[in-house]
Amino acid sequence: MTVEATASCSNCRFWISNPAKLRETGGNCRRDPPRIKDGWLTGQWPRTDCDDWCGAWEIGPESHL
Ligand code: SF4
Repeated sequence: MTVEATASCSNCRFWISNPAKLRETGGNCRRDPPRIKDGWLTGQWPRTDCDDWCGAWEIGPESHL
C-alpha cells in the first residue's frame, strides 16, 4: 500500500478540522506558522481539504492506519 492511498490531512498530526469556518471537509494545516498574504493584516494557516495530503504528512495520534 502506498502513502498516497492512505495518507490524508484528516489523519495527519498537523491538521485541525474547522467546519465552523470552512467547508465541512476543510481544515487548517498547522505544520508551519501562519503566513501573511498581501493585503491581509493577520497570518493565515494554510487551508486544506480532509482528503488532501503533502510530503510532510506524519501520522496523527488518533490515526488507525
Ligand atoms: S498539508 Fe501536509 S502537513 Fe499539512 S495537514 Fe496536510 S498532510 Fe499534514
